[in-house]
Amino acid sequence: GRRQPCTPLSGGQRLLRVAGCGVRTHREGDLLQLAHYRRILEATGWCSGGVPVAGIIGTDEILIRQGRPVLGRNRTHRPGDLKHLVISWANLGAKRLRTFARTASSGWRYRSSLERYDHEFAFRLRIAEIAARRTGSPDDPDPRVRPIVVHECESCPWWVACKPQLNDDDLSLRIDKARLDVHEITVLRSMGISTITDLACTDVEQLLPTYLPEVQHRPGAENRLRLAAERADMLAHGIAVKKTSVGPIELPAQGYSIDLDIETSAAARVYLWGFLVNDPDDDSGPHYVSFSRFEDLGHAGERALAEEAATWLVEQLTAHPEAKVYHYSDYEVVHIRRIARKSASPSLRELAQNWTRTNFFDLFPVVQKNFFGVHGLGLKKLAHNGAGFNWRDEDPGGLNSQCWFAEAVHGPNHEVRAGFATRVLEYNEDDVRATRALRAWMRTLS
Ligand code: SF4
Repeated sequence: GRRQPCTPLSGGQRLLRVAGCGVRTHREGDLLQLAHYRRILEATGWCSGGVPVAGIIGTDEILIRQGRPVLGRNRTHRPGDLKHLVISWANLGAKRLRTFARTASSGWRYRSSLERYDHEFAFRLRIAEIAARRTGSPDDPDPRVRPIVVHECESCPWWVACKPQLNDDDLSLRIDKARLDVHEITVLRSMGISTITDLACTDVEQLLPTYLPEVQHRPGAENRLRLAAERADMLAHGIAVKKTSVGPIELPAQGYSIDLDIETSAAARVYLWGFLVNDPDDDSGPHYVSFSRFEDLGHAGERALAEEAATWLVEQLTAHPEAKVYHYSDYEVVHIRRIARKSASPSLRELAQNWTRTNFFDLFPVVQKNFFGVHGLGLKKLAHNGAGFNWRDEDPGGLNSQCWFAEAVHGPNHEVRAGFATRVLEYNEDDVRATRALRAWMRTLS
């Protein structure tokens, strides 16, 4: 029911109100940054009076349909085209951020971006004041805070100073999946629980009466703590993945099968289709087949490549109607159907409409149903930690492969481009081999 005020970037100072959308409060970092600018402008005498509004330039496009502004997508959009982008106005004084509040009966209350900012800034001032009084003498005051690992640490220049202050088994350092937030870690530390061993050796039931009232800002705080405790226990015992179900895992019968994995560019275009063909009658073992284009693909290029790959795959499936095509998550099927919608290719359409329903098999739901992973259930983690599979690349990952693809297309010379193309192809081949290793491993478990 909200009507977000916006101003077109290209439309003078006209104010639009877009129904059904608003500035997202979970982007708290953006709002705090705007509050920071507001306070700087105030301090330097440049701030306007009135309601404290601030503008965010987003990537959503606002179109005018039947005289009304609506969220939409300009199909003729080109990079650098600002025509449909807007400044969204956020009221920094509106109380919309859910925050911890010890004195509230619920344990939390809504505060405005400016209130949140002022609280955090005052806290940082106290930290700095105490740090400035520490001179290395025995009478120094204790530091006001100890580091807690958060997402930003990965790129923070202070990491070299913070890391030595952390126990190697610090909870925030070791638990990197469904990570507890700063406040949750602070509460646990105040209860004497700092490391995975501390948490693993503690009865969660006994923690809850004291812990939960302190973390009411977090929906699902109890479940988050239970999962953290389970992860702590596994880490303390050196277990990366464990089976949570009893009995064998149900998988399709073995036989002629194909493992499939696609790679997409940063522009979300599928530029590589990789298949591992497993033919029980072929004594030479599984073999890798790929269809790729190392160039900047538009709609037409991506479609042509997909049609080529689909034609080959439909031929295999027609010759082996019982064959299964294994993939990990619905990513492949989503892209096949997306590309097929605009394609006239009978093979691609047949693949999207029929074969993906009858012969494709997504391994991820099976994994979700049967395993718990300390570091999550991504293919890399599970195939490595469970099935013992190793990628040839020292740093395999989807985001990395997008960088390699960019180098394969735009690298400075032929050698560099060819090197990165090979790296992507080997990475993709290892992905499909990992899928195969994963299902082979799952069949051995009882
Ligand atoms: S490295 Fe230290 S200062 Fe930087 S984000 Fe992490 S804890 Fe904070």
